[in-house]
Amino acid sequence: MKRRTFLRSSMAAAAAATLPFPQGRPRLFGLYRPPSGGSPDVPAVTGDGREVTLRGGDLADLAARIRGRILLAQDDGYEEARRILNPSFDRRPALIAQVTGAADVRAAVDFARDNGGLLTAVKCGGHSLSGKSTCDRGIMIDLSTFRGVHVDPIRRRARVAGGTLLGQVDHETMSHGLVTPMGTVSHTGAGGLVTGGGFGRLARRWGLSLDNVTAVDVVTADGSFVRANQEEHPDLFWGVRGGGGNFGVVTSFEFQLHPLERRVLAGPIFYPMARAREVLTLYGDYAPVAPDGLQLDLIMVRPPAGGEAMAGFAVCYSGPAGQADGVLAPLRSLGTPMVDGIQGVDYVALQRSGDTDDPRAQGTYTKSGFIEAMTPELMRILVNTFQGHPQRATVLFAQHSGGAINRVLPDATAFPQRNVLANLLCFVDWPFGQDPTEHVRWIQAFWQGVEPHTQGFYVNDLEEAHSADDVGLNYQRNHQRLVAVKNRYDPANLFRLNANVIPTV
Ligand code: FAD
Repeated sequence: MKRRTFLRSSMAAAAAATLPFPQGRPRLFGLYRPPSGGSPDVPAVTGDGREVTLRGGDLADLAARIRGRILLAQDDGYEEARRILNPSFDRRPALIAQVTGAADVRAAVDFARDNGGLLTAVKCGGHSLSGKSTCDRGIMIDLSTFRGVHVDPIRRRARVAGGTLLGQVDHETMSHGLVTPMGTVSHTGAGGLVTGGGFGRLARRWGLSLDNVTAVDVVTADGSFVRANQEEHPDLFWGVRGGGGNFGVVTSFEFQLHPLERRVLAGPIFYPMARAREVLTLYGDYAPVAPDGLQLDLIMVRPPAGGEAMAGFAVCYSGPAGQADGVLAPLRSLGTPMVDGIQGVDYVALQRSGDTDDPRAQGTYTKSGFIEAMTPELMRILVNTFQGHPQRATVLFAQHSGGAINRVLPDATAFPQRNVLANLLCFVDWPFGQDPTEHVRWIQAFWQGVEPHTQGFYVNDLEEAHSADDVGLNYQRNHQRLVAVKNRYDPANLFRLNANVIPTV
């Protein structure tokens, strides 16, 4: 740090420490920590909707107990911390606990439980499509201040802190020539992705992210710190791999790692939308039989005014180099594409290529469901009813499943959908602030036609409209076992902002 900058920041820090209310606003728990009992009470709400009052003294005690920060609405940093990726979820927690480790998580969980079972949201990467990682008037346990990756290249294991982003995992493991399958956008959180599933460019080779977890540390609803693996707490270990955030806060994941060449063959290949039927037919024929090394994601996109509509594939081939031409040949069989960007690329750079620079500039609404096949009737609906609009991007995406994902038995983890071809998603994006009514109406109507051709949904794409019954049915035969795990580790349903498994005790 330059000397002048250092002086300026030191002076600012000194001023902040001496002024009781820096910048004229009371900073209750950010930098300034008032003595116990010297701060105002805060109204809040419990998970089952009761009004409660958080005593100022208790808040001050919590602030003193953790190494991270407790942020109230008037604190600097609160506005930034309360946000998640999708700006449509504009919620205001009563308090935010920015934790730095498992001890802080335990303190925050104890506080939530001891205050009547506060409505409790857990935020890692903030990508929840249904806004479950934030809440109005409850507590947000913000893991974004609790990140880190430790790689053991000899044992081929990585330990990952509960708030870590996927890009950090890829970056650290790849420097040893090792990977574990992660999702395709590097600012997604491992906490949400891995507890719910984890589709991505390598999942057909080595399974979902959750299939590669060898152990977890979890802070459960009673504030216990529990290590779970095949031998210790195997019921929790089973449930946390697919049961989402239902059983507590995962403070650490351990993953197995696999060797991977840094360079993979990847990129988009697109044809004009007029050829969508041929693209879909090719997907229906080739995706089910493609080798594990090929990740073939279908994309149809109708951009806002001015952009040309296209249908094609996002490709990643990481199998034996000598077989690449043969594996990719069917994709080029439709003639000259509009775009052929398939080339040798750095895997970590590829994993960052879909990142959003300014995520909060866009509103998004998503519908999704698993498909077992690209049937002629589904193709007909997709070709005939996928409509664009000059003020939005309209995107259809099929994230390829199969391969190693489907070789895991449906009851080996809590994630049961081991027989599907793809996770089919449709989303609309519009400039945030504009009225989305027309776009949301369109996608709902479009999905009414598509939905009968889907079999359940990916819990990580949970929608606000999904009921407890929908969630129960979606877990199929695993649901009963999940209820037993929930009864044991979270009988009062403190962790309910997720694809909620309702306890029965
Ligand atoms: P958050 O919003 O922070 O958390 C979501 C939920 O996860 C929380 O409500 C909580 O219940 C739970 N949770 C978070 N951290 C923890 C923890 N440490 N312990 C316990 N529970 C926790 N999915 C894929 O499979 N593959 C993809 O390639 C993929 N790409 C995506 C790209 C984008 C842009 C978006 C928006 C989503 C994508 N998803 C993908 C879906 C993604 O898996 C889910 O949105 C997931 O929940 C995101 O996790 P997060 O930690 O970022 O979310």
